Amino acid sequence: MVFEFDMSMTWRETWYFLFAKKVCPKCSGPLERQIATHNEGFGWRQDGLDFDYGHKTKATVSYDCRHCTVSYPIGQLCSGQAA
Ligand SMILES: [Zn+2]
Repeated sequence: MVFEFDMSMTWRETWYFLFAKKVCPKCSGPLERQIATHNEGFGWRQDGLDFDYGHKTKATVSYDCRHCTVSYPIGQLCSGQAA
C-alpha cells in the first residue's frame, strides 16, 4: 500500500523532511511537523506512468514553532538554512 500523497517535494525538501534537525530559525526551539492534505476534487492523477481518474489530494508539509507561534513551510526552512 502506497501513500496517496502527492508531496511534490524537491530533493532539498525531501532531505530536510527525512534527515534534518527541525529547529526554529528564530528561537532554536523544536518544531512540530504538520502535514495538511488538500482535496483538489476529482481529476486525472498520475502514478508513475499510469494515469487513473479519482480523488486528487495534495499534501503540504510545514513546521510549527509553538514558542513563536509561527508556521514555516518546508520550502522556506530548507532554503533559508545556513549549512
Ligand atoms: Zn521559535
